[in-house]
Amino acid sequence: MIVAEKDIAMGWKLDNSYARLPKSFFSILNPTPVSGPKLIVFNEPLAETLGLNIQKLQSEAGVAVLAGNQVPAGTVPLAQAYAGHQFGYFTMLGDGRALLIGEQITPAGERVDIQLKGSGRTPYSRGGDGRAALGPMLREYVISEAMHALGIPTTRSLAVVTTGETVIRETKLPGAILTRVAASHLRVGTFQYAANWCTIEELKALADYALARHFPEVKDDEQPYLRLLEEVVKGQATLISKWQLVGFIHGVMNTDNMTISGETIDYGPCAFMDTYSPATVFSSIDRTGRYAYGNQPAIGEWNLARFAESILPLLHDDEEKAVQLAEETIAKYAELYEWNWLNGMRAKLGIFNEESEDKELVNKLLNMMEKYGADFTNTFRSLTLDKLDDGGKLFKSEDFAKWQGEWKARLSRQEESPADSKQLMQKSNPAIIPRNHRVEAALEAAVKDNDLSLLNKLLKVLARPYDYLPEQEEYIALPEPSNIPYRTFCGT
Ligand code: AMP
Ligand code: MG
Repeated sequence: MIVAEKDIAMGWKLDNSYARLPKSFFSILNPTPVSGPKLIVFNEPLAETLGLNIQKLQSEAGVAVLAGNQVPAGTVPLAQAYAGHQFGYFTMLGDGRALLIGEQITPAGERVDIQLKGSGRTPYSRGGDGRAALGPMLREYVISEAMHALGIPTTRSLAVVTTGETVIRETKLPGAILTRVAASHLRVGTFQYAANWCTIEELKALADYALARHFPEVKDDEQPYLRLLEEVVKGQATLISKWQLVGFIHGVMNTDNMTISGETIDYGPCAFMDTYSPATVFSSIDRTGRYAYGNQPAIGEWNLARFAESILPLLHDDEEKAVQLAEETIAKYAELYEWNWLNGMRAKLGIFNEESEDKELVNKLLNMMEKYGADFTNTFRSLTLDKLDDGGKLFKSEDFAKWQGEWKARLSRQEESPADSKQLMQKSNPAIIPRNHRVEAALEAAVKDNDLSLLNKLLKVLARPYDYLPEQEEYIALPEPSNIPYRTFCGT
């Protein structure tokens, strides 16, 4: 590793293991410099865990790195090649507007990707300009950090800088670059790329890399690639159950937006559900509801099947046997998902042990929430606080009174006290989520008026979702009723 004094002072300790993979997996190039970098948000606690110097990284020299105008000495920035099924259609993709700057080795000895998103054109840009606009980059920052605080595996956001340049979308918008931190950027689509355009040796090299990086405990197993599939299945079953438990809708669950590490990635048109309804879709491009809230678990399985297909030749020499092994492993997903989801729902209702009728109890509540148009987050919050006077129809209904009796009876059949239940519920039901109208208001103030106060205040309350703080009260309010459904747009 060649390292310059000033980079050491900033705390950079970058390695490039990805660049040691076969050449077909990436293109080496530097970010395209920008004319006027300016730091907009910076994640001090994250910088600290990465071993970065908080002051030096926010200095002119530090911001030059976050803007792609300077590359820490010795590191080899690269764009990763990948493919993916986008809304079911397979295409070649790759980092068209992002570069992996290197892998930071943290003081805890972990290896995490440092990626600049919006850093200029690459060989994978196709028709795109390689750039990103400020609003969507701030949106990714806010939502990814909120997800992290909610305890959901996710890529993190270290900083957003503006570039001093405009990007042309429907209108002219301020350009920006997000520094994204990830366990890795290996995607299901990376394996699809390998399976379709690379040799079997290259595919194997990629699988070995994924095993070494994410699942070292199984890499020496007799069937390491089957274990890899199992681990990825487990990771996604856990992840997607966590999304469902907080009402998170990813919006574009294309196979290129699904990680091997089990982290949530690529916050484009994602949003949190207000009123409970499985059919909820926010993304303007999801016309058929493929990625609706209620479809996410099944799409997870579909994407995992695409992953399994990509590594079939590694599972067994005999293709029929390989297919059988893959199918058996994918079949475990539904069960794992269901188990995680149901246990999560039990915790949301203060239930510690298992009874066979629990699923029915949960589903009855969800069905009532849908029937009476109840807000997902606030319903669980009200149950946690035992404050059932939210002005809505649900808590006033006879159905609910009956259900409440069944729920209380259920709680009385466990050893734990009501106080224990309340504590469990508080840990499992966020008091605050990044509500769409609040996120939009904060982004609008930041982008149109250069006013970061709403954004900073929002980030502060979202950092402690399970604390039930008085200053969070004002964020509980739902958006004003509107005839126009909330729509999100792709972050391009
Ligand atoms: P996403 O919708 O962000 O998951 O991106 C899908 C694909 O489009 C990826 O290959 C991106 O790198 C590429 N892409 C998105 N926006 C741009 C852009 N402005 N310029 C070049 N490529 C882009
Ligand atoms: Mg993507």
